[in-house]
Amino acid sequence: MKVAVVKESAPGERRVALVPETVPKLTQAGLEVLVEQGAGDGAWFPDSAYSEAGASIVKTDDLYAEADVILTVTRPDETQVGRLRAGQTLFGTLSPLTDPALAATLAGKRVTAVSLDGLPRTLSRAQSMDALTSQANVAGYKAALIAATAYGRFFPLLITAAGTARPAKLLVLGTGVAGLQAIGTARRLGAQVSGYDVRPASKGEVQSLGATFIELTSVSNGAGEGGYARELTDEERQAQQAELSAHIARHDVVITTAQVPGRRPPLLVTSGAVKAMAAGSVIVDMGASPLGGNVAGSVPGETVVTENGVTIIGAQNLPSSVPTAASNAYSRNISALLLTMVADGALTIDLTDEIQAGVVVAHDGQVVHPAVAKLLNPQPKGAGDVDRPGN
Ligand code: NAD
Repeated sequence: MKVAVVKESAPGERRVALVPETVPKLTQAGLEVLVEQGAGDGAWFPDSAYSEAGASIVKTDDLYAEADVILTVTRPDETQVGRLRAGQTLFGTLSPLTDPALAATLAGKRVTAVSLDGLPRTLSRAQSMDALTSQANVAGYKAALIAATAYGRFFPLLITAAGTARPAKLLVLGTGVAGLQAIGTARRLGAQVSGYDVRPASKGEVQSLGATFIELTSVSNGAGEGGYARELTDEERQAQQAELSAHIARHDVVITTAQVPGRRPPLLVTSGAVKAMAAGSVIVDMGASPLGGNVAGSVPGETVVTENGVTIIGAQNLPSSVPTAASNAYSRNISALLLTMVADGALTIDLTDEIQAGVVVAHDGQVVHPAVAKLLNPQPKGAGDVDRPGN
């Protein structure tokens, strides 16, 4: 079976789905590895490193003609989708819950689609395949570095002959995988760090990193299903924003990471909260998206300085800005998943397997993932139905 690594097509994307170090793992399992010319360049893996590891470097046309399985980091562009043919399998982070149309297109072409973001993350045998976690770790690390670079003062306490600098006060809102990594990195840089999350379970994790956990009285338990947060009601959201504003004003740097699966990111830092911050403060919004982010006024991919001197950075695709580390981790994730689905050198699709039921989105001409299929064919609402997260 031929497994091919494509050159990523998204603008500015520097990661690659498979790094040379992982090639032998696949060849030892009886797979042949093809790499599109220049696929690893953005992450500093030259074609020669892939050849030395046992892969064949191929031209784009040959790759699509020969491959049985194609590995990508993010969704393929229209040209790449157009090149796929029936019987091929695409592995990548395809975001089918936000882009179900791609799943439908792939099913229509009789391409099998496997998306790493559908992995059941709490399953212990799936840990090594968890690309959402590995990439969120990279993003959280980089967010702290970006904040430190944009901030006009030091993060650590510095006592010098030219005076004493007090440590920066940094607040992380949303302390899942990325938030905890941002806390750890900011602490290593010497900042005084606090964290807040709507899931009470994260309190112990924040404290174990030596940071202070902020508890709000206005919102109680915001935990939802599967370890994720639930969407707050309008009243809860307003009360949370109001209570958070006072905490935000006391900090020099704020990093926001809050997400709710399948929903637009919650607004945590209102324009009023931004106005109450001191000149020179920095906010990094990791939730920034075209739909709006965690911070009022943040623009994805841009840095905005407000009238009162607050720098708001709309962080976008941070893993791609640490391309070698992010690719190394992703490569381990995608190869571990691929190898669990290979038996005797061939791909075996088994939707009764808990991991495969989560990641296989399209197969045999059908969108087989129930949540994605439901998005494509919503059932008419019955009289007693109400809208709620997960519906
Ligand atoms: P995520 O990216 O979905 O969201 C980031 C954080 O934002 C979460 O901690 C969430 O609680 C928080 N958030 C959402 N709405 C908020 C609001 N209104 N106010 C404040 N915070 C808000 O989360 P994630 O990093 O993917 O992690 C989600 C959960 O999955 C965590 O419990 C994590 O520990 C768990 N997880 C478990 C495993 C495992 O068991 N191996 C692996 C990965 C993640």
